[in-house]
Amino acid sequence: MAQAAQKPEEKCECGGDLEWSRSCGAKVCVKCDNHKGLARCFCGWSKTSPGRGREELEEAGETIDPEEPSDLTNDFEAMFS
Ligand SMILES: [Zn+2]
Ligand SMILES: [Zn+2]
Repeated sequence: MAQAAQKPEEKCECGGDLEWSRSCGAKVCVKCDNHKGLARCFCGWSKTSPGRGREELEEAGETIDPEEPSDLTNDFEAMFS
């Protein structure tokens, strides 16, 4: 039986699996919610201030658009893979 070559899965620091989150535009840990490569996220996650990610982004002058164009998300995903 031939074994399919699997590319190594990226893991979080905590050892949890990272799964691509389309809404966050980042890879998110299924265990601890860590966003790979991000410090804070529109979904509210923040490395430094849990639950305040969105506020922090607003304070930083980021425009938060709830309707994300899917084309943009696809481009972003392609960049990461
Ligand atoms: Zn997020
Ligand atoms: Zn984790």
